[in-house]
Amino acid sequence: MIQSKLPRVGTTIFTVMSGLATETGAINLSQGFPDFPVERDLISLVNQNMEHNYNQYAPMSGTPELRSALAAKYKLLYGRNYDPQTEITITAGGTQAIYTAITALVQPENEVILFAPAYDCYAPAVELSGGRPVYYEMHAPDYAVDWNKVKSLVNRKTRLIIINTPHNPSGTAWTEKDLLALQDITKGSDIIVLSDEVYEHIIFDGMKHQTVALYDDLSSRSIVVGSFGKTFHATGWKVGYAAAPAPIMKEFRKIHQFVTFAVNHPVQRALAEYIQNPDHYNGVAKMYEEKRDRFASAIAGSRFGIRPSNGTYFQLLDYSEITNEKDTDYAVRLTREMGVASIPVSVFYPNGSGDKVLRFCFAKENETLDRAAEILRSI
Ligand code: GLN
Repeated sequence: MIQSKLPRVGTTIFTVMSGLATETGAINLSQGFPDFPVERDLISLVNQNMEHNYNQYAPMSGTPELRSALAAKYKLLYGRNYDPQTEITITAGGTQAIYTAITALVQPENEVILFAPAYDCYAPAVELSGGRPVYYEMHAPDYAVDWNKVKSLVNRKTRLIIINTPHNPSGTAWTEKDLLALQDITKGSDIIVLSDEVYEHIIFDGMKHQTVALYDDLSSRSIVVGSFGKTFHATGWKVGYAAAPAPIMKEFRKIHQFVTFAVNHPVQRALAEYIQNPDHYNGVAKMYEEKRDRFASAIAGSRFGIRPSNGTYFQLLDYSEITNEKDTDYAVRLTREMGVASIPVSVFYPNGSGDKVLRFCFAKENETLDRAAEILRSI
């Protein structure tokens, strides 16, 4: 018999719901990925780099060009200096960066504060390192944080606080007030903040992304995780990065070198050139804001309650007027009987949530969104 290291963990909800969508032929608004193409120019750059034979291992920490381009981008957007030599590492997507950071930083018996609904890869990584997840629960409708309550969870055993803004699955985005409160709570401590900012460029209604990199004290104790897949509609390329002060990054790289060693070389070279033009990421928010609005207005008047989405490419819909079923049951029935797949949000809580909300991905062609909305309106 194999003794499981994660006895309570099953298959991730994204694989389960995408699988059910494929099996039933439902419109797949569950797992978050765009159904529209990557820009031609970016594809050409990848092709050129393959033709020019950049097809062998990239440097372990990432190509110098991509790390330098990222450092320049952080300076330009947030006024923060990261040394590309020692403070930035290119990873095989955000998930690998998160796993690597947790593995590098969490020791047995350490406590790690998570904000539920928490993306599903955080807790298993904490547990594999012998750490203990401690949850602060945010709830529908607004998922607001009472920072005094967060503060009461902090003690001598707290090693890491994992945050995520703009937030998946709720679609909320934190403000300056939230980041300042977090900075206050962690000041003078040994706590490190792991900041999952993969939806950095998908933020709406004129809100400004609140990265830990904007704050001197907070950034000195933080590791930021980013993703090119989210920004450039290329989730399948699995290329992301981590940025942190050198002593943290040194430990990160000790793990990174033995988990992936290095990341897709021609894609890194292409991205290094592509991200130097801010137009390539600045337009993304507007494109998604239009999709959010199109989807929401197409559902307006239905029995679904539209929750605010300030960022990410996710929209929460409240179905409490339709049924009393658990979200996990209703998500399956909605896929099988009505042909629209979504993600039940309760799976991101330690003990379920009781909130009657489902998450729908609007990173889809307008025609796909219109078809899905028509079905949802008919319910
Ligand atoms: N981040 C994507 C989502 O939230 C899923 C990625 C994955 O399937 N691992 O839907």
